[in-house]
Amino acid sequence: MKIIMLGAPGAGKGTQAKRISEKYNIPHISTGDIFRENIKNKTEIGMKAKNYMDQGLLVPDEVVVDLVAARLSQEDCKNGYVLDGFPRTTPQASALEKAVDSIDYAINIDVPDEEIIGRMAGRRACTSCGATYHIEMNPTKKPGICDACGNEVVQRDDDKEETVLKRLNVYKEQTQPLIEYYQNKDILVSIDGTQDIDDVTNDIIKILGA
Ligand SMILES: [Zn+2]
Repeated sequence: MKIIMLGAPGAGKGTQAKRISEKYNIPHISTGDIFRENIKNKTEIGMKAKNYMDQGLLVPDEVVVDLVAARLSQEDCKNGYVLDGFPRTTPQASALEKAVDSIDYAINIDVPDEEIIGRMAGRRACTSCGATYHIEMNPTKKPGICDACGNEVVQRDDDKEETVLKRLNVYKEQTQPLIEYYQNKDILVSIDGTQDIDDVTNDIIKILGA
């Protein structure tokens, strides 16, 4: 079962990827984790990636694809995996296709822009312990004060509306074309991501099978 997760930033694909991974006992693979691991272990390709990152440059597709392909060739991936955060562009998707066997499902967690903006604008994070909250869905007990450690909670720059809009635009330009790409391959599944997290998971399980 080889799965790719698609969806705008804030659509909840990381959460769903984790649940799929647990339910079907396949690894949850995020590019962030692969980067961290390869840099920590000072692999050749990891050092190559770090070189770009240290200069503030985007890591080129061929380096990212090599990193992901190496990870997917490991023993724990032989029964499948759920890829989260990759591919981000159609060139990456076609490179992935050349590097690995075919993908079985591309699961798109569909959430309208207004809801994405609302979700992200309501996020708050503790300045001290890093605990995260949401002013509507998961508020602190005392307004502005972290439940866990009593320090101040604030809106991160990443969650400010201006930043969220920028990220949504990048997503639309670069990543949204993947929806059509996988639709044409007949492996796209769109899930209503405005539902409760549990209902989203149940819809996915209905498609993948129990
Ligand atoms: Zn705290």
